[in-house]
Amino acid sequence: MRPFLAAANWKMNKTPEEAVAFFREFKPLVTNSNHRQVAIFPPMLLLTTVREQLNDGSFLWGAQNCHFEKQGAFTGETSPAVLARLGAHFALVGHSERRTLFGENDELCAKKVKAIQAEGMTPMLCVGETLAQRESGTTADVIKSQLAKGLAQADLDGPLVIAYEPVWAIGTGKVATPDQAEEAHRILRAQLNDLGGARLGSRVQILYGGSVTAQNARELSMLPNVDGFLVGGASLNPQSFAAIANVK
Ligand code: PEP
Repeated sequence: MRPFLAAANWKMNKTPEEAVAFFREFKPLVTNSNHRQVAIFPPMLLLTTVREQLNDGSFLWGAQNCHFEKQGAFTGETSPAVLARLGAHFALVGHSERRTLFGENDELCAKKVKAIQAEGMTPMLCVGETLAQRESGTTADVIKSQLAKGLAQADLDGPLVIAYEPVWAIGTGKVATPDQAEEAHRILRAQLNDLGGARLGSRVQILYGGSVTAQNARELSMLPNVDGFLVGGASLNPQSFAAIANVK
């Protein structure tokens, strides 16, 4: 049984003081649940602030990005080995903003997935089609190719989470319909089965991301292949993110 995972992608938002204020309000609002996980992806400089706020172990946390090398002449980059030493559980890979604004491609994602797993953390690999790709009927090909290429160097017995995030739904207020989300998640799960056998397909959580709110989360959370959410805008507010986490 795959646990439901509610993940907050704060992007480049919040100061240390705002992060502390968020948790003061958020933690009492989240109900106890054995089959639900909550993870926070703050900006890099807030990782230790978030770690201090989450020191009772009931929440998970991770980085929004990292390099694929442990160390070296990579000015401005973050080592996955250091993230692991800090205690991070996850690192995002291939978020659409990294792909479109920072030129990250599938080959780079594959190296990052491998490096994150090698440090004992869980890569959360993001895939998703643009509006033009959806309208031209190539959604399935696009997401299958991103998944296969992103996992090309992965340990398929290792930790892994996938986030399906249609680019046209991220930060736009346009959420995928339940049918669109379930179809994409089914395609991705079948692809995991093809790549790593039924054990991989049945154990890996596939999250939906793209304009998830407290209003639309419940219906999407009931879809058989949706194992949680990666939430941007609505995760910045403690009340709305708690309402999303509490749907399961
Ligand atoms: C995201 O950035 O991963 C995301 C899904 O953003 P939003 O929820 O704001 O669409």
